[in-house]
Amino acid sequence: MSRFWNPILRDLKPYVPGEQPKADRLVKLNTNENPYGPSPRAVAAIRAAADDSLRLYPDPEATVLKEAIARYHGLSPDQVFVGNGSDEILAHTFLGLLKHDKPLLFPDITYSFYPVYCGLYQVHHELVPLRDDFTINPDDYQRENGGIIIANPNAPTGLGLPLAAIERILAANPHSVVAVDEAYIDFGGASAFGLIAAYPNLLVIHTLSKSRSLAGLRVGFAMGQRELIEGLERVKDSFNSYPLDRLAIAGAVAAMNDRAYFEETRHKVIRTREELTSGLQALGFKVLPSQANFVFARHPAHDAAALSMSLRQRGIIVRHFRLPRIDQFLRITIGSDEACAELVTALAEILKN
Ligand code: PMP
Repeated sequence: MSRFWNPILRDLKPYVPGEQPKADRLVKLNTNENPYGPSPRAVAAIRAAADDSLRLYPDPEATVLKEAIARYHGLSPDQVFVGNGSDEILAHTFLGLLKHDKPLLFPDITYSFYPVYCGLYQVHHELVPLRDDFTINPDDYQRENGGIIIANPNAPTGLGLPLAAIERILAANPHSVVAVDEAYIDFGGASAFGLIAAYPNLLVIHTLSKSRSLAGLRVGFAMGQRELIEGLERVKDSFNSYPLDRLAIAGAVAAMNDRAYFEETRHKVIRTREELTSGLQALGFKVLPSQANFVFARHPAHDAAALSMSLRQRGIIVRHFRLPRIDQFLRITIGSDEACAELVTALAEILKN
């Protein structure tokens, strides 16, 4: 703590991102990246955009990207907000739409950036416990609040929430914003974007980092009625008018337009997830039914921290959270078929010893 710091920083526990190791021999199954790489059309579009025009600022509205996203979802471009990764959109959402004098509600086990934004922006919040089976009970979100945020599928559990439950939460909270963080929705969950016309309080947040394999480009977007989108634009224009650079806009547009590649790769990930789930179960792991590009698994007879260490010694990195209730779980990203087979073989050896 420095005497020059704003006192907010004293109590702030910043988000700890998953490790990004320098050695590329490692089998990296720790931060939910996509093993297949982005659409070749996206890569070509980024290359084509890398020319003299980079001396000019990008379009502050990223209009072509909003149009591509709107077309894809059957919305109008003014129902779309774009930002530098969904993390940035979440930050703007916490500041502009979820900061009120009543507590914000979110599950006690969820994306660990939410409490960090609360600390940074001084948003009063209450954690809502998950059920014993780690599912979200929509009836727990009926009490007085200044906003609600739900990750669907939830992270790190991978469990999806049915649309009917989301709708129940929306209908019970007409006076607060319900933000649904759908970072992993394309791997099997049901998106709430179709509810936007009926619910002015709904904000749906997506990313191109996972199902479109562009984590390195940093593009996310939010969809909602104009009232909410205008709120986010107001925060953006007070913070960074050019959140997306020219290369990101070009690549993201091409990725949104390449549906065939998107469908093929997301289905490959889903198939590998089902195979990995069976492989882990055959070794005695309990695996939560995932709708994401990762699985959350525990072994009743083996300590998760020790398993994670042993995997690391074999060059395989998975994610282990030292947090109450989930410290016996491993979160394993769905990699290529080969990477997942290597993981299962390594775990079989570790469990034998
Ligand atoms: N939401 C959830 C639930 C996530 O797990 C992540 C990835 N860590 C994000 C949002 C942020 O993704 P990005 O900033 O890459 O769009």
